[in-house]
Amino acid sequence: MADAKAAAASAADDVVMPAVEGFTPELLPDKDRVYYNDYSTLVQQQGMLQDHVRTSLYQFSMLENVSDFAGKTVLDVGAGTGILSFFAAKAGAARVYAIEASGMALKAEKLVKGNDLDNIIKVVNQKVEEVTLDERVDVLVSEPLGIALVNERMLESYLRARDALLKPGGKMFPDRATLYAAPFSDDALYQEQYQKAAFWTQPDFFGVDLNPLREDALTFYYSQPVVGPVAPHTIVAPATGKLFDFTSMSLEQLQRFEIPLNFTISAIIPVHGVCLWFDCNFPGISRNVVLGTSPSEPLTHWYQVRCMLRSPLALGVGHTLKGTLLFEANESRGYNIHMTLINANTGVKLANTVVSQCALHHFQYTTQQTASTYYSPTSASPSVSVASVE
Ligand code: SAH
Repeated sequence: MADAKAAAASAADDVVMPAVEGFTPELLPDKDRVYYNDYSTLVQQQGMLQDHVRTSLYQFSMLENVSDFAGKTVLDVGAGTGILSFFAAKAGAARVYAIEASGMALKAEKLVKGNDLDNIIKVVNQKVEEVTLDERVDVLVSEPLGIALVNERMLESYLRARDALLKPGGKMFPDRATLYAAPFSDDALYQEQYQKAAFWTQPDFFGVDLNPLREDALTFYYSQPVVGPVAPHTIVAPATGKLFDFTSMSLEQLQRFEIPLNFTISAIIPVHGVCLWFDCNFPGISRNVVLGTSPSEPLTHWYQVRCMLRSPLALGVGHTLKGTLLFEANESRGYNIHMTLINANTGVKLANTVVSQCALHHFQYTTQQTASTYYSPTSASPSVSVASVE
């Protein structure tokens, strides 16, 4: 098994693309150190735990499906505080391995002991890639989902755990996800990005002409993924989706993948780019549960992600919008997303590259609402509607 693991690791390393030159040099030398430092803080873990939609959906999917867990051995990939391990234990698991690479493992251990569950939950402070067990487990649970599903590149660790530590035919919670893409039109957002870059057009900033950096500033701002809540009415065509089957897909399929785009537009409208979101599936024996993060569902800490063009693309009624999104994994635990959009009726073609990275706070949308807006007493959107049960 060790050989297979090493081969998979080197195959994956071979095809990793460097981050686009000049974008995130400060993160390149040791991406994992920055990543795990973030996750070793209580504030980061608290943010996820307090995403009520996320945490309650995971709990629901497991407690509604106790027959998937009762008497089983479970491995929690990236346990954080161990919350999913607690749910698995509650659902009747015989033994749970809570694997956490960051220092948060020590806090998880305190919670396990303090809740008298150390006879069931064993916390392991290691990268899951380095873990060896005497047995393969019946079930993997994990929350390896980043913004736009794939950011953070933790799904790769989930697949490695599948290959090395899960029994053949064992269950994965979640077992699959779909990444959605749809064109959007939002002039206010376009102007906001433009205004940020306008700082660099000042001819006399403390005596310095900043214009030589105007182009760089525009390139920078339009290469940032815009992470925030998206008003549903700004989505101008039904989304297209790409399925990720965690039970069968290869690591290489996460390194580089394409989403072909083909939309029919029903208004005269400028398209400013493509909006991304995902849903993911929990394959319970008793109930199949789906966690959705679309613009029309209650807000989660994944929000939605917009990839912008540098100038709007004009579309008319009945026009066909074609193109591709090519995702290439980068060394900042993110993706370089190469977007090409073509109005097939006019032949106008625009392209841009958007770069995501693991440090989420780098690209928060400044005017975003907070997730708590959804839970105000006056809100008409009850948070439970996100759990669509088949
Ligand atoms: N399961 C927890 C935490 C999810 S966040 C919850 O649902 O609240 C992802 C966690 O996985 C982080 O704490 C991160 O440090 C950890 N992690 C990421 N990659 C890992 C890896 N390869 N091995 C072990 N832990 C990992």
